Amino acid sequence: MPALNCMATTCIYNRDELCSRGDIEVKGRSAEYAGDTCCHSFREKSESSVTNSTVAGCGCSKIDVKCEAEKCMYNDDCRCNAGQINIDGPSACTCDETECETFRTNG
Ligand code: SF4
Repeated sequence: MPALNCMATTCIYNRDELCSRGDIEVKGRSAEYAGDTCCHSFREKSESSVTNSTVAGCGCSKIDVKCEAEKCMYNDDCRCNAGQINIDGPSACTCDETECETFRTNG
């Protein structure tokens, strides 16, 4: 499982730039660039009906990452096998405004 550093601090699961969700799903099946990927598990704090108390807990430094970005060199049968990934999107309002900065093409 990769160590996850997440800059999407507007996400309800973000805890001090770590993710408290336990697992995430990255989209971007035909992604050629990092900007074509996104964290599908992103939920904006203000739009979510989930309260803080239901997702209480610390962020996890290591997290299970399912990933559709088949052209990424770290993609192993739709799982991320990178040692560490960075999710970007500090002012994201939707998942489309996030991206996996660590994406690297395998070509
Ligand atoms: S590094 Fe590659 S395989 Fe891992 S989550 Fe990001 S895009 Fe997917």
